[in-house]
Amino acid sequence: RCFCKLSGEVDDCSCKVETLDSLNNNQIYPRLKSLLARNYFRYFKVNLKKQCPFWSDDSRCALKDCHVDICQKDEVPIKTEKQPDNESNNQHEKNKYTMESNKGEQGGGDCTEERQLSALDTTISDEKKAEFQSWREHDESLPMFCEVDDEHSNDLEYVDLLLNPERYTGYKGLSPRRIWRSIYEENCFKPEKSVGYGPEPITEAAAFLEAMCLEKRVFYRLISGLHTSINIHLCDQYLFPAKNGFGPGTWGHNLKEFQRRFDPEKTDDHGPQRLKNLYFTYLVELRALSKAVPYLEEEVFYTGDAQEDADLKEGVKDFLAIVKNFPDHFDESQLFKVNSQEMLQLKSEFVHHFRNISRIMDCVGCDKCKLWGKLQVLGMGTALKVLFSGDSMAGDSTVNASLKSDFQLTRTEIVALFNAFGRLSSSIHALETFRALAR
Ligand code: FAD
Repeated sequence: RCFCKLSGEVDDCSCKVETLDSLNNNQIYPRLKSLLARNYFRYFKVNLKKQCPFWSDDSRCALKDCHVDICQKDEVPIKTEKQPDNESNNQHEKNKYTMESNKGEQGGGDCTEERQLSALDTTISDEKKAEFQSWREHDESLPMFCEVDDEHSNDLEYVDLLLNPERYTGYKGLSPRRIWRSIYEENCFKPEKSVGYGPEPITEAAAFLEAMCLEKRVFYRLISGLHTSINIHLCDQYLFPAKNGFGPGTWGHNLKEFQRRFDPEKTDDHGPQRLKNLYFTYLVELRALSKAVPYLEEEVFYTGDAQEDADLKEGVKDFLAIVKNFPDHFDESQLFKVNSQEMLQLKSEFVHHFRNISRIMDCVGCDKCKLWGKLQVLGMGTALKVLFSGDSMAGDSTVNASLKSDFQLTRTEIVALFNAFGRLSSSIHALETFRALAR
């Protein structure tokens, strides 16, 4: 039996790994794979040129497989900005466009708060000002888990995700080590009381995790699950050098690399736990999609091609029905449950630490890894925004809690949410391949 054949409950959840294997490999994965190949989901808007805000840049990576093919403006075959339809009965769409046009009138994303306010003071009526203020309060009431790329930056570009798959790039050594260390050691939480942990890596020692409250463990498991997923993909689509040392090499599954990273004997017993964290992260994002079902069912998935949009909407509906009917969802109401000053403080640290991780993604020294790192962190941040907005933020959450009626997601957030979940789904599916190879 391969060590990657996990069993039993996912830690901090009541759902079993076997249940998720079956749900994912038989139902979710095939549907998502075909949805993510559609135009709406394959073009992702991103700024890969942002400066690293924490240390001087590791200079651009010269590795060939780190290169990202950017779409030229006339190459993106979709329209992304629908004009508000005054005749529409769809309140969800109306809210969205009212909000977006208000944001535009405020002066755009590259203005400072003060300039926006003074522009408002001189040109806009009191009634409009009150409306802007209420939108601002609304925006500020949503927890912003990610620092989003400035919508008005000239450096924003579209990337075709299918032409730039997440796979082995050769990015290794000091640069990724610094990123992962900074994420785990500076942005994951530590127990208040010192625990007698043993050898490295301390963040994974069982005593270290058990000494922390649920919220802090959840934070760690989410990041570790993402890390596992990234590393599974590089093993699953690995570039083997050409046998004679010349030529382009061949892509394939690398069982040895997978074993080096996840076999308990080669990882001081940490491998299976890292794999289980992948299932944990999957469950959290699955639950976010389920909570967002009423919102997503109203989404137009606009590309400018009416037939394509209608077909995609049907496909998403079929996928969401499976997500919604899953009986064993992660229960986010167990988090931030106690109504106390300390809990409020913890909630704000949770958001702040996650935001920092989203900024660290601008320090990744390989463009392909940065693209997928930014997308997956934004997708996870969007999942957290869904889980902790609306009813649950008001403190009366239940697994059936719904989102506030004025809740909004941008196209980029939706694309990131689906693609990030697609990555986790593809990792769980890849475990099946490694199990077969190890037999
Ligand atoms: P790393 O994966 O760098 O791990 C560092 C240390 O973290 C390990 O020694 C271990 O102690 C601990 N650790 C490892 N896994 C976990 C886990 N799941 N949970 C908790 N702790 C863990 N490379 C590619 O080829 N393609 C990519 O698309 C790609 N994307 C990346 C995206 C980001 C954001 C980053 C930071 C790196 C990316 N990399 C990618 C690099 C890749 O993740 C590894 O860093 C690299 O292969 C070197 O691996 P390593 O063996 O040194 O261990």
